[in-house]
Amino acid sequence: MSDKLTPQQRHKNMAAIRSKDTKPEMIVRRGLWSRGFRYRLNHKRLPGHPDLVLRKYRVCIFVNGCFWHGHGVQFRVHGSASVVVDSQCCRIPHTNRAFWVAKIRRNKERDKEEQRMLASMGWHCITVWECELKPSKREETLDSIAFTLNHIWLQDHHVKSSSGHQQEEESHTIPMAAEE
Ligand SMILES: [Zn+2]
Repeated sequence: MSDKLTPQQRHKNMAAIRSKDTKPEMIVRRGLWSRGFRYRLNHKRLPGHPDLVLRKYRVCIFVNGCFWHGHGVQFRVHGSASVVVDSQCCRIPHTNRAFWVAKIRRNKERDKEEQRMLASMGWHCITVWECELKPSKREETLDSIAFTLNHIWLQDHHVKSSSGHQQEEESHTIPMAAEE
């Protein structure tokens, strides 16, 4: 079969493929696969359709965009007024601000509720943020996820992890809903 794509079309296709490959989920998938972890994708029957599901570890992984999931955004109450504090990686637009605040707040509440449901079903949840996957942080983040997975497995199987990892354990930054 002959290749009927014009150079422009081919360029467009290549760009689409590239952006798909560098999607945050793909980075996590490839990083965990290369570290020997096996998983299922977008498990439809679990709350929130986790991006990756590792049955052996009873772990669901969510790879979240910082804007839509309001990474670091705080909703504080001062007396009768509620104040929204943006974060570095989630800047809520000033135009239509009330709309965006409501939307992001809903998304965050839904994430929390889904993770609470998963925890009640005996699943651990790991949230990986898009900003933790930028090139300078990527490997560290993936190592940290791998460490957390092994740590969870050991805990669930009541195996004491060696004291050599103590420091690493305390400094890992991947939040787990189960620990809330
Ligand atoms: Zn972020």
